[in-house]
Amino acid sequence: MKKDILYSLGQAPNGELVHIADAKQDISYVCPACHQAFVQRRGSRKRPHFAHKILSPNCTPETALHYGFKTLLFEKIQSCLSDGKALPIKWDCPKCAGFHEGNLLKKSVSVALEHSLGERQPDIALFSEQQQPVAAIEVVVTHAPDEEAIRYYDRRNIAVVVIKLNSDQDIQQLEADVLKPDSISVCPNPKCPMCESHMPKKRLLIIDGDCWNCRAPMKVAAIRGDMGYEPNLNSDDARLAAQHGVFMKEQYSKTVGDSYIANTCRRCGKFVGGHYLFIDYVAVPEYPRQELDAGYYCPNCQV
Ligand SMILES: [Zn+2]
Ligand SMILES: [Zn+2]
Ligand SMILES: [Zn+2]
Ligand SMILES: [Zn+2]
Repeated sequence: MKKDILYSLGQAPNGELVHIADAKQDISYVCPACHQAFVQRRGSRKRPHFAHKILSPNCTPETALHYGFKTLLFEKIQSCLSDGKALPIKWDCPKCAGFHEGNLLKKSVSVALEHSLGERQPDIALFSEQQQPVAAIEVVVTHAPDEEAIRYYDRRNIAVVVIKLNSDQDIQQLEADVLKPDSISVCPNPKCPMCESHMPKKRLLIIDGDCWNCRAPMKVAAIRGDMGYEPNLNSDDARLAAQHGVFMKEQYSKTVGDSYIANTCRRCGKFVGGHYLFIDYVAVPEYPRQELDAGYYCPNCQV
């Protein structure tokens, strides 16, 4: 994405960072990055912003945005911690293909800006009651944390939280009730006991359909995982389905050469094979359905 960054934060004489929308005409602000004098620009061609009074060749709006955002986020975290409030977050998880919600400050009692953790100095570090670093927050305008940094944090059980900024307008994210980091290196889902990878969540669909053979009303169960539809239900899924009125029976499939638990019609006894389960039931929007939480699964190990 192309970056679109203006200087939209100025530093007031008392040190406070002020957004251009809240800036007063009779106060002189300086650039938070290079501390040179700012003027306020409120033209019609661009949204309001600050500009250096005299050209400041070593200063970039990226640096100022990075500094401004991390400082404001640090202050927000500090005030949440001192008020004993949560800081709700939501993120898409590449490890389990699902999404998670939580409290960024769940394990933290204190926060530090630009604090050295030995080899690394994250923008913001969060610490546990035992003074152990539990999370490193990186505000990314130009450089994302490299692989080596991620490994360093991983080895120490420090979560890496990355927030990417493409525009000074991203500062508004700090006003939202829920912070949405671009990535977080931890997945709260349990790990597969066989392959150790984080398991995606799955849901059991209970579909109010008709028997494909005799057209009698027939409830049908199917599994939708965060990594796709699963052809088979395990015995726990089948038990949960039975509690919701689905009739399942062990059936032998010639195509698969094995038996499996299949949705079966109570009236005519015909069952729904894996492939037809999807096209004849899951993919038919006219059939009403409900979704039940069915725990986790491993698409690699079929557990
Ligand atoms: Zn500057
Ligand atoms: Zn996850
Ligand atoms: Zn596995
Ligand atoms: Zn039937």
